[in-house]
Amino acid sequence: MKTDSQKLFENNLSLIARMMGKSAKESRRDPTSVALVAVTKTQSEEKVEAALACGLRIFGENRVQEAHARWVGRKNLYPDLSLRLIGPLQTNKVREAVSLFDVIETLDRKSLVDQLVKEMEKQGRFIPCFIQVNTGEEPQKAGVFPREFSALFNYARHVGLSVEGLMCAPPVGDPPALHFAFLQKMAQEKGLVGLSMGMSQDFVKAIPLGATHIRIGSALFGSRV
Ligand SMILES: *Cc1c(COP(=O)(O)O)cnc(C)c1O
Repeated sequence: MKTDSQKLFENNLSLIARMMGKSAKESRRDPTSVALVAVTKTQSEEKVEAALACGLRIFGENRVQEAHARWVGRKNLYPDLSLRLIGPLQTNKVREAVSLFDVIETLDRKSLVDQLVKEMEKQGRFIPCFIQVNTGEEPQKAGVFPREFSALFNYARHVGLSVEGLMCAPPVGDPPALHFAFLQKMAQEKGLVGLSMGMSQDFVKAIPLGATHIRIGSALFGSRV
């Protein structure tokens, strides 16, 4: 028997999958080149289970500790899980983050590059990163400012960290497509393929601009508790 949570989730998922497919087709992109990252922060266990039952395996989490509590026990049950950190990473959480996550999307400063490299070597676990760019230069938001991006990227490369892409979250109220286009251009200049951009409200605008990972929370799971 399917639970109500499961039915609701399936409906949301099929709607999003259709919108992703349509947007990919319209922009002449291979639909399989866009990954759906299900953002489970603050959602109930029941909803997380519904997502797993539907076959979703790529999840985004904002907080290391919350993610640890939710996923560490499930990693053995679902060996193909891919966990992505999409919230800011404090230095004192680097050890736990490297052992839990498969991708860190929020690299935004040199000191974090150093800490990550050190910890990855210690654990023998080398995971790729995305650099988070604060495209709107919002002081309260994480992410490297665009003018400091190139230096951070070159530094990460120099010390051997694997940078696979860029991530952004446009300011509320700004047209998101401007930020997506800007991020796409920055990525292209560095030969980076990965682009984590687009959330529940704006992912159809991110796909034509090259998003490889869209991060969807509320449109899949309902509003956060
Ligand atoms: C919460 C969050 C999301 C998902 O947001 P929705 O609008 O619920 O889809 C995506 N990215 C980041 C960085 C987030 O913090």
